[in-house]
Amino acid sequence: AKQEGRHGARFFTPEMQASSARNLQLLNALRSALERDELTLHYQPQIAAGSRRLIGAEALLRWRHPELGLVSPAEFIPLAEESGLILSIGEWVIRTAARQAESWRQAGFPPFIMAVNVSAAQFKQPELPELVADILHEVGLPAEYLELELTEGVAMHNPQGVIAMMAQFHERGIRMSIDDFGTGYSSLSYLKKFKVYKLKIDQSFVRDLTSDQEDKAIVAAVISLAKSLGLKTIAEGVETVEQLDYLHQQGCDEMQGYLFSKPLPAEAFTDWLRAHAE
Ligand code: C2E
Ligand code: CA
Ligand code: CA
Ligand code: CA
Repeated sequence: AKQEGRHGARFFTPEMQASSARNLQLLNALRSALERDELTLHYQPQIAAGSRRLIGAEALLRWRHPELGLVSPAEFIPLAEESGLILSIGEWVIRTAARQAESWRQAGFPPFIMAVNVSAAQFKQPELPELVADILHEVGLPAEYLELELTEGVAMHNPQGVIAMMAQFHERGIRMSIDDFGTGYSSLSYLKKFKVYKLKIDQSFVRDLTSDQEDKAIVAAVISLAKSLGLKTIAEGVETVEQLDYLHQQGCDEMQGYLFSKPLPAEAFTDWLRAHAE
């Protein structure tokens, strides 16, 4: 906790100072990370529960800082959001992921959807749908192969604005899914109005799925809710066959997690594609 200093001024504890000093250092370094080519994307397979075929890949951002090493997106994305850097980084992510998807498509691999995370700040930009459409045109990827993941928290923070935005993506044939579903207190009436086609069941419900009766009940309820609304479901963080079996048995459509593969650099993902080609 903060401590009262002289004259009632508030001082940071050494711990807080360290964390804010690190944040400052990270933020400064992040400003030049794009130009210095320190950002890269890893790709994680999304698998159909029944056929075990590849349906999609989620692009996940990685930052390799020359001195600090690999910095987790959980640490630098919030900084990028607060500083506005997420707009240029996010655009880079969409372009890089779309270009990679097109290159795999051109290489003749069976088609799959590229899922990209978009942040709150990006989704507040009225010109985002046009920007995404321009990028798709530029790289030659048809809209049906791109999906944007928006967290439930962001969607519910400004549902009216989000509904309008989703309609624009829908018109352009770009799919949207709700990420981290179950953590953001969705209002069911909004869920009906959102132009989304898939719910991603948050990994916090998947983790203890086979031992925790409440998680079992929540996951079963989300899957049945999705079905009744005509939405697909994907579970994230699937690590064990037991989790997979329960999810499959409940009717979850797709799975993503270490059980199938960790997020992989593009070259390793290409090897994975080759190894899984029939
Ligand atoms: P997320 O979108 O919910 O992504 C899922 C996270 O779970 C990823 O962490 C992924 O590596 C991890 N994961 C996948 N399978 C498993 C598993 O079986 N077990 C466990 N324990 N974890 C698994 P990651 O890559 O560290 O990303 C963390 C978060 O950072 C993401 O959560 C997302 O919110 C954000 N993020 C990542 N890339 C981007 C990006 O390009 N743009 C934006 N705006 N956010 C991003
Ligand atoms: Ca995601
Ligand atoms: Ca997620
Ligand atoms: Ca998450």
